[in-house]
Amino acid sequence: MAHLIDGKMLSAQIRDEVKAAVALRSASGKRAPYLAVVLIGEDPASASYVKGKAKASTEVGIDSDTMTYDASISEAEVLDIIERLNQDESVDGILVQLPLPAHIDEQKVIHAISPAKDVDCFHPESVGNLVIGLDGFQPATPAGIVEMLKRTGIETSGKHCVIIGRSNIVGKPLANLMLKKGIDATVTVCHSRTSNLAEIARQADILVAAIGRPNFVTKDMVKPGAVVIDVGINRVDDESRERGYRLVGDVDFEAASTLASHITPVPGGVGPMTIAVLLQNTLKAAK
Ligand code: NDP
Repeated sequence: MAHLIDGKMLSAQIRDEVKAAVALRSASGKRAPYLAVVLIGEDPASASYVKGKAKASTEVGIDSDTMTYDASISEAEVLDIIERLNQDESVDGILVQLPLPAHIDEQKVIHAISPAKDVDCFHPESVGNLVIGLDGFQPATPAGIVEMLKRTGIETSGKHCVIIGRSNIVGKPLANLMLKKGIDATVTVCHSRTSNLAEIARQADILVAAIGRPNFVTKDMVKPGAVVIDVGINRVDDESRERGYRLVGDVDFEAASTLASHITPVPGGVGPMTIAVLLQNTLKAAK
């Protein structure tokens, strides 16, 4: 059976490190880092992510406010809010929770955030720094995955990392991180037009699923001994739960566990790591 990579435990380590660094700053008379979170509309998943981020910030001593707006807010108003946050010297990090309502251009909003406060690492300047290997903010979910691998002692150098999913949030930035000097994986990125996906996945030493479909990765896609990282967060109906659903990943966990050397659970895997990296980025922004 695969060794379970405990994202909760590893993210707690990172949060403790951030907490200690924040305490050190305040001992030297500096104010606490401040994260401004902008939430637009009433998507329950977004509201729940934002709540988790705010709670985690408070726990490590980072100040944070969630600014909530009705879904009918105009694009111009959102851009104004961001400009005010950009100008406000007491704001270190700005996070606009995605997705946005359809009438607001997501790319315009991302472009509006000052790269110096772009703790989500979505601005083209941040992405460019990542691609050419310069220091800067880390893309939260991909960097969380890399931290998991490092802290679990998993070798990445020369390993074949197959990523299923090419989104700007997960697949593409993860490919760039895994390629970075010092991490040194050989990377293949798959998507909905990939032919022979199962065959490619079976070649992976490190297989990352970031698709958004429950149980997409089946046993026949996993090479014996592979490390399986499940990024997916999917709600499936479950009448036995009070809330009527449960969260599952993109991997058939039971089946893949019989072959993989290491595997991440959902929940309790990549999700908590994502929040931990966001805290690291906010601390970096304050510095
Ligand atoms: P997107 O919907 O933006 O991207 C999904 C990717 O999967 C696309 O590249 C798409 O290909 C690919 N895909 C879809 N169907 C198939 C298929 N049949 N075969 C091969 N590839 C396919 O999703 P995200 O990257 O934003 O998120 C992916 C999952 O990860 C979601 O469940 C999301 O909730 C979760 N997530 C979890 C986070 C965490 O902290 N744990 C953070 C962010 C996301 P194509 O480009 O061709 O359409």
